[in-house]
Amino acid sequence: MGSTIAPLIANIFIGCLERSVIKKLIDQGLIISWTRFADDNLAIIRKGSHDTILNAINSWDQNIKYTSAFFLENKLTFLSCTIFLKDGALEFQTYRKAGINTVINNYKKSIMPRRYLISSIFTALNHSKHSCSNDDLFIADLPILKDIFLRNGYPEKIINEKFANFLCSPEKPPQPEVSFTFCIDYTNSKIEYYLRDLLGRIKKFIPNLYVRFAYKTLTTEQIYKKDSKAEYSKLDSCNLIYKFLCTCSKCYVGRTKCTLKIRANQHKQFSRAKKTYYHIHRCPVYVKKLLAYEKEHIPPKSTQTFIKGVRDKFYMSHFKIQQKCGSFSDLCDAESYFIRINLPKLNEQIVHKNFTLF
Ligand SMILES: [Zn+2]
Repeated sequence: MGSTIAPLIANIFIGCLERSVIKKLIDQGLIISWTRFADDNLAIIRKGSHDTILNAINSWDQNIKYTSAFFLENKLTFLSCTIFLKDGALEFQTYRKAGINTVINNYKKSIMPRRYLISSIFTALNHSKHSCSNDDLFIADLPILKDIFLRNGYPEKIINEKFANFLCSPEKPPQPEVSFTFCIDYTNSKIEYYLRDLLGRIKKFIPNLYVRFAYKTLTTEQIYKKDSKAEYSKLDSCNLIYKFLCTCSKCYVGRTKCTLKIRANQHKQFSRAKKTYYHIHRCPVYVKKLLAYEKEHIPPKSTQTFIKGVRDKFYMSHFKIQQKCGSFSDLCDAESYFIRINLPKLNEQIVHKNFTLF
């Protein structure tokens, strides 16, 4: 849904729908049961009333378009559950989308506090327990869950220990009351060691002070980019990964051994290989913006050199250096990385053989 306020608005919007349309359908006996999470609904309805209900919902406002899914081979997926009928009763068990829900933070490779990684076992167990309608189904899910943790680098000993703890008591142990919380960027696994040491020293002086460390995990991009270095002049540095972001919001990620200015000029020329001009000559949004920019920055009777300078300035303002690299292999790796995260529309998307994110 995008923005952070979107779920709230969706909730209010669907709430209005429920008060006006759904309530009537329930009163008429067409809907027998109606449950909802955000804009996902699960309904038990009277036989033969599906089209009437769907029409009533979809004609309430032109901006909503509900679709429906039915039980198929005694199975229906709703949120993170698979619902099925057994002995005349509805049961549900954990459903995981292959890929997305089975790749979690890698225990060995992710830059994340151990404490958070380990506590995610508890979270996953809780999630599984609440996604199963009875204990047998939950117990049946445990080997699957264990396999996911093992595949993501978790040591078997820790998994077994946490599983056993959870089965004894699913509640988290009580925590002492926190006096202070320090929020720190987690950039290295050594941080935990140093902070434990610091905490020990504090405790010697103030035994009753309970300090908690909250770690802010960084995205791979934040760590990969070496922002702590002073920025290079855009036009003079070599061996770069750069991004051209067009006014139309399509982008191109490329690498160059020469300076960005030389590379940028190549982008303006006719491509013999593709037998076409590059994007900016064909992009109406870019051309329109350029004309407006020229109107604002070029006074009448300006020299050709001045006009060219203004156009170049506009053109170069679309380029951004993503990374400066030392070696050719770094350059290739970084290019693949930035192509992967930017998914540039103006690049040909080729899978890089030597580079894997996961
Ligand atoms: Zn464009």
